[in-house]
Amino acid sequence: MSTATKFKTLKDIPKEEYIAPGNTMCAGCGGILAVRIFHKALGPNVAWVNAAGCMTISVSYPLSPLKSNWLYTAFASAPAGAQGIRDALDVLMAKGKLQKSEDLKVVVVTGDGAAYDIGFQSTAGAIQRDLDFYYLCYDNEAYGNTGFQMSSSTPYASSSKTTPVTAAYPYGNTGRKKDLFEAWRAMKAPYVATLSNSHGVDFLRKVEKGEGIRGPKLYIDFAACPTGWGFDPKYSIEVEKLAVQTGVWPLKESVDGVVRHTYVPRALTPVREYLRTQERYGHLFKPVEKPEAIATIQRSVNDYWAKVAAEESTQATPAPA
Ligand code: SF4
Repeated sequence: MSTATKFKTLKDIPKEEYIAPGNTMCAGCGGILAVRIFHKALGPNVAWVNAAGCMTISVSYPLSPLKSNWLYTAFASAPAGAQGIRDALDVLMAKGKLQKSEDLKVVVVTGDGAAYDIGFQSTAGAIQRDLDFYYLCYDNEAYGNTGFQMSSSTPYASSSKTTPVTAAYPYGNTGRKKDLFEAWRAMKAPYVATLSNSHGVDFLRKVEKGEGIRGPKLYIDFAACPTGWGFDPKYSIEVEKLAVQTGVWPLKESVDGVVRHTYVPRALTPVREYLRTQERYGHLFKPVEKPEAIATIQRSVNDYWAKVAAEESTQATPAPA
């Protein structure tokens, strides 16, 4: 696989727009920004397969802000829809009714509700069948379009509609975020990556890399959600950047099971700087600060990066002769 890239700086982001302005997503939505950048990286020949979620509202027949194709499916069915489109394209090309140049890249686009929960089983089936498709999850860490209920991507100590802060649960959510990256890796998907809209070149390069890999490819985009997380939409990119700088959202990829971190913060910014930007963590700071919960989150981030450092030093150690 070639390591050459056409994306060297932010100036290399393609100018072509595939999503019209004025769509129905919330201001500052990280999800629609992820779709916009992903589309720029892939070019015009894309067939989107959408599982129910926030993004569904952006394309409601007969209106669509997209210049490309869009198939809407129920929550759990997007990978099956992708299989149908991929098969149809392959059959048409085999019969000579479609030129190779007219082929489409099939991209499932879902929120974390479908990716982590409701669509997980059908996704596992598509991975098992080695379906050649992209899977873009805009991860806003809850069920955004139904009122921000908890999903299995919802992080520890955040509040959501179904994990409110109460006397019995002073930190809100007691559960831990599911590790979707590792779940796909365990299922032997050839390419798995995390993305942040705040790191555009890293984002584009990963999509570019996926184009050279046949089979199921997962992209989990950290999609800032001003409406559900509770912050001013103008700070979306800042919040995403802080998630990377604090180490809360590691940027990494796995090619055939081998993991590489594509960005390692030189020094981790304390997680409290990230947490305090959002109302969903507001109870950790007021009416009085809850240092135990903040320390628990910090410890989990520190443990993750200590493990990464240990693994990287092991890989650097030459094997004994
Ligand atoms: S609820 Fe969040 S993810 Fe959904 S459209 Fe609004 S900002 Fe985007």
